[in-house]
Amino acid sequence: MPDVSFVRYEEPAERVARLVVTRAEKRNAQNTELLYQLNDAFDRAAQDDRIRVIILATEGPDFSSGHDLAARDQRETMEARHRVGTWGGGTGEGLEPLWAYEREVYLGFSERWRNIPKPTIAQVQGRCIAGGLMLVWPCDLVVASDDALFRDHTLMLGVPGCEFFMHPWEVGVRQAKEWLFTCDWLTAERAYALGMVNRVVPLALLAEATLELARGIAERPLAALRLAKAAVNAAQDAQGRGAALETAFGLHQLGHAHNLQVHGQIVDPAGLPRKKGPDAPA
Ligand code: ZN
Repeated sequence: MPDVSFVRYEEPAERVARLVVTRAEKRNAQNTELLYQLNDAFDRAAQDDRIRVIILATEGPDFSSGHDLAARDQRETMEARHRVGTWGGGTGEGLEPLWAYEREVYLGFSERWRNIPKPTIAQVQGRCIAGGLMLVWPCDLVVASDDALFRDHTLMLGVPGCEFFMHPWEVGVRQAKEWLFTCDWLTAERAYALGMVNRVVPLALLAEATLELARGIAERPLAALRLAKAAVNAAQDAQGRGAALETAFGLHQLGHAHNLQVHGQIVDPAGLPRKKGPDAPA
């Protein structure tokens, strides 16, 4: 394990764990090591029977700028880790290592966190872009500050959307299409109106309001919380969420393959930002 720590584990109240991503200087851009550390922190909170509610937060003005395109050791980092999935293929030929990587670290982690049998709450401030949504959407509840902005503009890079393709469930079919086609920002207020966000609070009260919500839920019996979560997730899965997610992931890989053939790289370079920063795509 590298000695760089990207995630801090806290217990801000009885029965409540808070996982804090601490890469504010990079707008919490996600590299492979950061995602594995976050997964380790989720596992720790999930397996600690004293903990009933898990908050996911990040430091700095922006929640997350998405995947860190500047990171160069992504697959090597995965190979050095104990994988959470069984896909393998990381050292295969052609596009197989890319599928293997994205299935493990993107789709795999997000789905795994979505299924943690305890309530989870995302605490979101500032900009949340593409891969950033793949941290927020796995959580059961979302508390956003009034300055929060959400965007998935990966379509500009020649793929249909980020790998954990929850857009239709998060904002509805018609709004999902407009949001993806236009690559526009979704404000916290609009995200609340569409049902993607549970509560919108002033930025100064964000941490306090999120913790207050967590404290209240943590008063409830854990066994019943687990059952309630599983029941709601089952309802969503009965609508075909898993099959649709797999189809979208396959189409995402088709987009990468197409880009490789046409542009010589897995994304359309026309969509890449000129400078690094919070607008950097996933
Ligand atoms: Zn991808």
